[in-house]
Order: sequence, then C-alpha cells, then structure tokens
Amino acid sequence: MTSSPLVSRANMDILDELQLIAAQNLERLEVNKYYEVIRELGKGTYGKVDLVIHKIRGTKMALKFLKKKTTKLKSFLREYSISLYLSPCPFIINMFGIAFETDEYYVFAQEYAVAGDLFDIIPPQVGLPETVAKRCVHQVAIALDYLHCKKLVHRDIKPENILIFDRECRKVKLSDFGMTRRAGSPVKRVSGTIPYTAPELCDVSRHEGFCVDYSTDVWAFGVLLFCMLTGNFPWEKALPSDSFYQEFIRWQRRRTNTVPSQWRRFTEQALRMFRRLLSVEQDRRCSVKEVFGYFSHSWMLDAENDNNNGNTVAGGGGERVSGGGGGGGGGGGGGGGVRGEVEGTISSSSSGEEDEELLVERMKQQTLSPRSPVSPLSPMLPMAVKRGSGGSGAKGGMMEPGGGHHFVSVSTNSSVSSTNSYDRMPRENGSPGGRMLVPTPIEICV
Ligand code: ATP
Ligand code: MG
Repeated sequence: MTSSPLVSRANMDILDELQLIAAQNLERLEVNKYYEVIRELGKGTYGKVDLVIHKIRGTKMALKFLKKKTTKLKSFLREYSISLYLSPCPFIINMFGIAFETDEYYVFAQEYAVAGDLFDIIPPQVGLPETVAKRCVHQVAIALDYLHCKKLVHRDIKPENILIFDRECRKVKLSDFGMTRRAGSPVKRVSGTIPYTAPELCDVSRHEGFCVDYSTDVWAFGVLLFCMLTGNFPWEKALPSDSFYQEFIRWQRRRTNTVPSQWRRFTEQALRMFRRLLSVEQDRRCSVKEVFGYFSHSWMLDAENDNNNGNTVAGGGGERVSGGGGGGGGGGGGGGGVRGEVEGTISSSSSGEEDEELLVERMKQQTLSPRSPVSPLSPMLPMAVKRGSGGSGAKGGMMEPGGGHHFVSVSTNSSVSSTNSYDRMPRENGSPGGRMLVPTPIEICV
C-alpha cells in the first residue's frame, strides 16, 4: 500500500511541521526598519530580550534575540516553534508569529509582559503573601500541566521565566522554552546545577545521559514554590554535600521527625505537598496536577495564625511546628500536631489584608521576617533567592551557602495592597537596574 502525501502529512508531528514552515519563512530583516527599540528587558549568555514598538502597527512587543554565534538555527527554530505551539494556553506567553534573522541574531516576537518577571517581586527572606503566591502557583501549575499534556518538559522552571502581566500580579504566564524538549528524548548531561535542578540531574557520577522526564519540572516547581513562599532557596544544590539538602532528605526519608529549620514555617498540609513534589525518587514524585488538591489548605503557619488570630492551630503542643518567635526551635514536625488545621481560610479577604499589611511593615523596616526560620538550634541561615538561579560554577557562582544573603535585585519599592494584590512600582527609568541574568545550565549535547 502506498501512502498518500496526505497521510504522510497527517503523520508528521505538528511541531516538526511548525519548525519546517518557520525555517522556510525566515526572512532577513533590519530591526530598526520595522521596530523602534525602547529598552532592554533582559539579558543572558544566549542573547537579550528588548521591548520594541512595531513601527507600522504601533504594537508593543518583546523581541528575543539569540546570538547566532552561540545558537544553532535548529535550536532557535525549536524554541520559536514550541513557544508558538504552546501559546494558546492562557498562562503561557503569547506569540505574534514573527521570526526573522539579522546578521548577528535570530529573533522572534512575544507579547510584552508589562510587570517583568516573578523574580523581581519576591521579597528576600520573606516571600510573597500566601494569597499572591497561591494565585501565581495556580496559574503556573495550569501552564505546566498544559505543557505536560502536550508531552513536553519545560526544563527551566524558575521565577525569572514566569512573566507578570499587571502591576498587581494577578496574571502570570510561563515563558522561555529554550530548554523545552519532548518527554523521553535523550539528553546528555547538563553542565552545572542550580537550586531548581532535580537530584537525579545533579548527580555528577551519571555520565550516561538521561531521558527528559516530567518529574524534573515537578521538582523545580516544588523549589519554585518554596522560593515564592519564603524568599529563600531551600538549598544551593540537591546534592548530599549540601547540608540544607541533606537535612531535608533525612526528614523526607523519615529518618528523623525533626522538620528542617527552613521548612518549619509551613503547615502540615503544605509539608505533605512538598514531600510529594520533592520526592527524591523520580517515580514517586507526583504530577503537577496534584497541587490543585492543596489550594484549600493554608500553607504558611504564620498566615494561618494571622488568619485566625493565632487560635486555630489546635492541640499542637510540643509536636507542633512553631509559627512564631523566630521560627521555633524543636519543630518536631511529623507528629499529629497540626491535625486540627482549619481548611479553606486562605481566601478570606480580611486575613489576607492583615497578612499583607504585616508584609508591608516588614518591607518598610527592611528586616527579616519575625518568623524567619533562623533559630538558635539551627545556626545555618537560609539562602536568599537570587536572580539567575544562584547556582555556582557555570551559573556564575553567586551563591554563598549559609550566608543569609540579600537578594541582589530586590525591589524595595514594592508594596502590598489591601485587595490581595501585589502592587509593584515600575522600575526606575524603566531599566532592570543593570542586573545580569545568569545563564541556565548549558546543554553539552542533545
Ligand atoms: P535564561 O536562559 O537565563 O533563562 P533566556 O536568555 O532564555 O534566559 P528569557 O528567559 O526568555 O531569556 O528572557 C530573559 C529575561 O527577559 C526574563 O527573565 C524576563 O525578565 C525578560 N523577558 C523575557 N521575555 C519577556 C517579555 N515577553 N516581556 C517582558 N520581559 C521579558
Ligand atoms: Mg529565562
């Protein structure tokens, strides 16, 4: 039986088709002829993202420029086509269907996210108010689930790749599909690790490469949640040599009942969610969808106490994770202390307001959260979230473990409104403050 062109076309994967069409239509353009460049929005080793105005249409766009020197045409076409393919999801960056090349760059156009990326709005060592964080998490989870349903793995989940569309942080979208691959595709090792890198990929003894798997996104998503809620990384690297990670693993594997110090601010439900998202064994890690089952619970102990005037964490006694006074010492997690949690209180607007007012105060005072996990029993300080993943080696070595460092690019001009939205002042002069993006792990070979 001969296959008709129609059949073979039907068999052709839509992504392959998109790439071939994009390759055929790739024009050589002079940027200044069609676009007025307003300012740079971001920068990395692979290129830059500029805010431009389309001279004919007057439309604001974000042009992503990828250096030809370091980007193969194939990689550019893949990133562009995947972005295009995923753009129907309301929580994934939209595209204009514009791709072209200049002498130096491959370029494609995306919708412009007026409020930048999520990294900028996470107050260091404090984190976002639970209500704001949950709203972002919800949208990112939908985007990630959409991507996974399309059998793709993002592979670069981090706050810098989540763009914000309004100053109140009500709408966020997932972006940057430069690392995205089909699930199951073979990838040789990545060089360098960042705090979001799953343990199975951090293991340098694995030389044989690996197959791209959804579970690595789930891990990064778990780390992202921690960062958003605390303003810290949970560890520098998911390796046994990292004491923060080791402490977490001992608890995760139930070798100890003591909740690691930086995790003591979470409710038992949230800890259960983290245990599922950050399961060390890949095959035991849950799917992204599972987080939807946790939204009706409070995640932060202090928020819970605020929500309920401190009276709702029933019967905790010694076993209960302390929510106040510097994070409490003993912790003791595991036990049944937090059983009596009141569910579904997070959406209560008055509690959200109190929570957010408290945050404004903290930000004004520029101090650490009074409920910082730093406790006398745990001399290690948590690590503040830093742009560019804060990894070491290939990532620029920005992280100094145990230092309790301040965020390099905190926007101190952020404020929290009383409507559960997270207001953020525009960047001065519209500039990103000279912050450099630190690249994600570079793939040696795909
Ligand atoms: P990296 O590999 O370091 O994650 P990248 O070089 O692949 O980055 P992007 O992540 O796509 O580039 O963009 C870099 C930064 O530029 C983002 O973190 C964000 O701050 C900004 N940016 C990107 N796209 C947009 C957009 N559409 N609107 C507004 N800002 C954007
Ligand atoms: Mg990025």
